[in-house]
Amino acid sequence: MTVEIPVAPAAPARFRDPRITAKGERRAAVALSALRTLWFNTGTLCNLTCANCYIESSPRNDALVYLSATEVASYLDEVRRDALPVEEIGFTGGEPFMNPDFLPMLSNTMGRGFRTLVLTNAMRPMMRHAAALAALNAAHPGLLTIRVSLDHHTPVLHDLERGAGTFEKTMQGLKWLAGTGFQVNVAGRAAFGHEPEAAMREGYARLFAGRGIPVDADDPVTLMLFPELDTAAEVPEITEACWGILGKSPDSVMCASSRMVVRRRGAEAPAVLACTLLAYDTQFELGATLAEANRPVSLNHPHCACFCVLGGAACSR
Ligand code: SF4
Ligand code: SF4
Repeated sequence: MTVEIPVAPAAPARFRDPRITAKGERRAAVALSALRTLWFNTGTLCNLTCANCYIESSPRNDALVYLSATEVASYLDEVRRDALPVEEIGFTGGEPFMNPDFLPMLSNTMGRGFRTLVLTNAMRPMMRHAAALAALNAAHPGLLTIRVSLDHHTPVLHDLERGAGTFEKTMQGLKWLAGTGFQVNVAGRAAFGHEPEAAMREGYARLFAGRGIPVDADDPVTLMLFPELDTAAEVPEITEACWGILGKSPDSVMCASSRMVVRRRGAEAPAVLACTLLAYDTQFELGATLAEANRPVSLNHPHCACFCVLGGAACSR
C-alpha cells in the first residue's frame, strides 16, 4: 500500500532563491570537500510510526522505496572506480532491516572493507535476522556499528513518542546486540523531556548501568543527543558572511563530506541527495551518480540554519 509522498512544510518564501537571501545578500553554499560518508536510505517503510519522525516513516510510507543490493553495489563500484575517499557507509530508513536486500548490502559494504553504520530501532525487523547479523559481524570484526534509537531514558517518554511497549522491545534488542559483541551506539533526543543535557546523560547512564549495556553516556559519539527539526521555527538565512561571524567553517557541515542515495517511488533510478536531512526537497537532489553530485549545495532550507550552521538549539521546541 502506498501513501502520498510526504512534503516537508514548505520552506518560507525567503529561502527559495538558492543564491540570494531575502535581504539581497549572497547565500552560503557548501562545496563537497571530500566524500567521507556515503549514506543509503534503504526505504521509508518502518515498523513504527513515531510522532516526530523527521522523514515521516511508517508501515505505509514508501515515498522512498527499497533500494536493491544491486543499486547499492553500483555506487560502491563508483567509489572504487573513482578512488573516492569514502571511509564509512551509513544505512538509514525507515527501518533498514525491513528491506529484504539489507543483509546482502551489509555483506557487500563490509566485504569491501568499509566501516559501516546502521541506524535501527533494534526491534523485531532486526531480531528476525539475529543469527545472520551476528555471523556478519563476526566475519568483519570492528567494521560494524549499530546505532539504536532510544528517544528517552524512561519508558514513559520513549513510548509516548514511539508507541506503547516500544521501550522494552528496543531495550531487549540493545541488550542482545551488546551481549553478542556488536559495537553499539545510542541516539536520543536532546530536547525531549525538557531536561538539561547533563541530566539526560545521567538518566541514560543509570539505565545502561542497570541493564548492563556498555555504552558510555558521557561520550557524545556513543550517546548522540539529536536536536529537534522544527521547520516552523523562525530561523535566519545563512549568508556567506555568516561563516566568519560565527567562526565556523563550511567544511564542518554534513554536506561538505556526505551524500545520501535514495530511490523515490516511481523514479527510474536512485538519486543522490546533499544530506540525510532533506529527503523530500528536490532542490537538494544533485544527480544520479556520485560524480554528478559533486557540486556545491546552497543552504536554502531552514534545517541548514537551525540544525547544521547555528546548532540544534536554534530550532528546538
Ligand atoms: S523508528 Fe525511526 S524511521 Fe521509524 S518511524 Fe520511528 S523515527 Fe521514523
Ligand atoms: S541541512 Fe543544509 S547545511 Fe545541513 S547538511 Fe543538509 S544541505 Fe547541508
